[in-house]
Amino acid sequence: IAKGVAMKFFEKSDKLDDVAYDIRGPVLDEANRMRANGEKILRLNTGNPAEFGFTAPDEVIRDLIMNARDSEGYSDSKGIFSARKAIMQYCQVLGFPNVDVDDIYLGNGVSELISMSMNGLLNTGDEVLVPMPDYPLWTASISLAGGHAVHYLCDESAEWYPDIDDIKSKITSNTKAIVIINPNNPTGAVYPRDILLDIVEIARQNDLIIFSDEIYDRIIMDGIKHVPIATLAPDLFVVTMNGLSKSHRVAGFRVGWMVLSGDKSHVQGYIEGLNMLANMRLCSNVLAQQVVQTSLGGTQSVDELLLPGGRIYEQREFIYKAMNEIPGISAVKPKAAFYIFPKIDTARYNIHDDEQFVLDFLKQEKVMLVHGRGFNWKDPDHFRIVYMPRVDELAQIQEKMTRFLSKYRQ
Ligand code: PLP
Repeated sequence: IAKGVAMKFFEKSDKLDDVAYDIRGPVLDEANRMRANGEKILRLNTGNPAEFGFTAPDEVIRDLIMNARDSEGYSDSKGIFSARKAIMQYCQVLGFPNVDVDDIYLGNGVSELISMSMNGLLNTGDEVLVPMPDYPLWTASISLAGGHAVHYLCDESAEWYPDIDDIKSKITSNTKAIVIINPNNPTGAVYPRDILLDIVEIARQNDLIIFSDEIYDRIIMDGIKHVPIATLAPDLFVVTMNGLSKSHRVAGFRVGWMVLSGDKSHVQGYIEGLNMLANMRLCSNVLAQQVVQTSLGGTQSVDELLLPGGRIYEQREFIYKAMNEIPGISAVKPKAAFYIFPKIDTARYNIHDDEQFVLDFLKQEKVMLVHGRGFNWKDPDHFRIVYMPRVDELAQIQEKMTRFLSKYRQ
């Protein structure tokens, strides 16, 4: 800085004022600081299968290696043909209406597409209905795009299903769309057909676009069948998100997709916007796109993990029982994905700030969780556990949480 010239400070953009993404927020900063001091932290904050020894199928890795030479250049901005064709067929078999290769967009994970889909749609003041709790990237992306996320209640006393009356009560003339996350992160709920039909009817009555995040559609237990909402709404415009990060344990490859289905006659302007945004980022990671066809063909390699005796199933059984055994903690049994969202009896423990609670737990017991309000939950009385570690490690969490709570602010 030249002498006599006042130093100029650079602040973050105003666009970020209302944006929060706490899964990688202040608690992670503290954990990183502790790790830098040589402390060992059990990280149960992100659903990153590779970190817990869930490896990708060999055929996926083989595909990646075999296709490296052919993936040096950019692809079509929507993605390579083989991947889009495979996704199209996957959707057609499931009964998605009116889906062609041109309706499929590959992205660097679902994350990029969530952000793109909101940026292409929203003007200042537009409202989007989002579940509460949610996967917070949806709320963050809506805010960043200039819109306003209006949270509707998912009901813990009813298997965490969306509360249809609450959705109806939150619709205004500014509501443009409704987001559902099914199967759900962080609750592990899978929505039954009648709830989905109610949501479709609300969208039909109020001219809403439906965005459905179905990244966990292949990670479901107890013989429950997933119903893609797009299959129930041939007369509506539905945008469905999915990807390989979780089902094929390749979160680091960054590969996801977005499917436009149903009636597109009234959304040509929006699709033009999506195409512009897809063009502007040139294309998504081409090498990762190469494994889509193999991944979606044949049996899904994740299936064996989800049956009794399989790792995810057994860990789910364990954590559900373990959490409910801790005095003052209760949890609904998750049916899908690998998260549980327990409730804390805050009166008993005098808790007013769930982020502080999670931070105190981290400092004392060296386990990293995410506080419920990080998922836009309304009260400071929940936290999320990623139950991907093996049962012996999960047993430690039960022990640590019991010990921690027995002394916490009583
Ligand atoms: N949607 C949900 C519900 C998620 O839980 C996640 C990741 O945890 C994502 C989207 C992002 O996935 P991707 O790795 O495809 O960006």
